Amino acid sequence: MNIVVCVKQVPDTTEVKINMETGTLIRAGVPSIINPYDHFALAAALELKKKHNFKVTALSMGPPQAKSVVQMAMALGADEGVLLSDMAFAGSDTWATSYALAKAIKKIGKTDMVFCGMQAIDGDTAQTGPGVAQQLGMAQITFCESVEVDGRRIIARRLIDGGHETVEAKAPVTLTMIMDREYVARYPSFPAVHGSLKKPFHVWSAADIGAEDQYLGLKGSPTQVNKIYPPAQKEKAAMFSGSGQEGARKILEIMRGEHFIE
Ligand SMILES: Cc1cc2nc3c(=O)[nH]c(=O)nc-3n(C[C@H](O)[C@H](O)[C@H](O)COP(=O)(O)OP(=O)(O)OC[C@H]3O[C@@H](n4cnc5c(N)ncnc54)[C@H](O)[C@@H]3O)c2cc1C
Repeated sequence: MNIVVCVKQVPDTTEVKINMETGTLIRAGVPSIINPYDHFALAAALELKKKHNFKVTALSMGPPQAKSVVQMAMALGADEGVLLSDMAFAGSDTWATSYALAKAIKKIGKTDMVFCGMQAIDGDTAQTGPGVAQQLGMAQITFCESVEVDGRRIIARRLIDGGHETVEAKAPVTLTMIMDREYVARYPSFPAVHGSLKKPFHVWSAADIGAEDQYLGLKGSPTQVNKIYPPAQKEKAAMFSGSGQEGARKILEIMRGEHFIE
């Protein structure tokens, strides 16, 4: 089977700073890493490669410096890397990003499984994986913790409210991966990094993947940022003293006062 893993370069922080005037992310001066969920997705794909001898291609869309996350994925074991880099992609929302990634996956060739992270730690929308599946007309399994393959059957254990469920689908499938709590990210050795430089790596423009300009970037993005602002500060929490019963009585009073209860 052929697997494509979508890896996004993200700032090494969950405290993303926003340019209040333009409504865009401020990336300057913040070190970048591979999105942690994508690191886990890559590890899951590489595990399948080891077991079944599958081919794994790492795919990213971003500015030229996003090459480093593709290179990292190759150093960790991906066989090939693709970076979509073109000014035409700049400012893309999740729809336009999914469109471009899906176009690239079609160009990569026959793909049986697409792995994405559950979400990117900067954009946080969790929309891109399902968007890619939709653009490719593939089945999708979201919030997966682990994945097994048996012939063309993909068996995924996914996290749901209050428990887990096991879902089966026939390839081709797009999966979005959550992160196992036990997971410890692996980093490549120097020889692995060096070896990865010899692996096939491609930089593709919008024209290379046959993407139509009208569906890319800000103008191809159906979502427009209207206004961006920090959430209102919460009022300082009330402090109670006294016994548990007195505390409970006070909480009930407050809830009645706010009409949460009668
Ligand atoms: C209205 C709006 C306007 C935006 N404007 C800008 C802007 O002007 N400039 C800007 O830089 N960003 C902008 N963004 C953010 C940009 O759209 C997102 O970074 C991108 O679409 C991915 O969404 P996300 O970060 O929420 O990823 P999620 O949907 O949370 O990511 C899920 C998974 O999809 C995959 N994935 C996501 N993005 C990529 C990628 N680029 N390459 C490879 N795999 C990927 C990864 O596997 C990831 O784990 C905007 C977002 C919105 C909603």
